[in-house]
Amino acid sequence: MSGTTTTTTKTTPKAILFTDWDGTVTLQDSNDYLTDHLGFGYDKRKVINDAMLIEERSFRDGFDEMLKSIPANGVSFQKCIEELLIHIQLDPGFKETYEWCFQNDIPVYVISSGMKPIIEVLLKNLVGEEAMKHITIVSNDVEINGDDWNIVYKDETPFGHDKAISIDECLSNYDMTTSKPLLFYCGDGVSDLSAAKSCDLLFARRGKDLVKFCSAQGIHYTQFDSFKDILSDMKSILSGEKKLEDCFEE
Ligand SMILES: [Mg+2]
Repeated sequence: MSGTTTTTTKTTPKAILFTDWDGTVTLQDSNDYLTDHLGFGYDKRKVINDAMLIEERSFRDGFDEMLKSIPANGVSFQKCIEELLIHIQLDPGFKETYEWCFQNDIPVYVISSGMKPIIEVLLKNLVGEEAMKHITIVSNDVEINGDDWNIVYKDETPFGHDKAISIDECLSNYDMTTSKPLLFYCGDGVSDLSAAKSCDLLFARRGKDLVKFCSAQGIHYTQFDSFKDILSDMKSILSGEKKLEDCFEE
């Protein structure tokens, strides 16, 4: 007799941590690093970055031009990975934040405009093999043909990867009917603009482009210097010691 019914219970966590990767989990932006040192250089990148920030050029269009300058100089994807492993550093509070989230059943999602193989190799190297099992990476990818390579975008939007759409997709994994988790997002730059409005509390790296954008658009945010600040605020909010509004800078 087949009287057994299997019900899939999707538990809803009390909070979810979404984070950008480049310049947020890592101190340096891998794509900027590669463009500045192995592509067409900082000066040209700065002009494009400024145009993206005032929305004169789409993120996808500007980002594409920067990245194309790297294989155009004959630099293979493998060489890029080797350079990044030497030069990219982890935010000093990230490991502890991720471990605390794991112990407290708070899922961690990396939502990135970077390329998946780069994020995976850095995550493994900087945080550890174990982190790979517990952190979900949602990002762009890469297509490699010998020494040539090209970024492969996640979607067709002007962002190449619309982070707000990805956050919605992640949230569909949870039952939100009875309770809604608190959504935290951490970022630093232009690629985070689409995600900035999708969360309850936005952590923006101090003094970076995302701060300028949020101030101009009237989006609530709080600045952080390292993930130690983020962890401290998350703990205070989840324990009820602090309200979200207490963290808003404007
Ligand atoms: Mg970034």
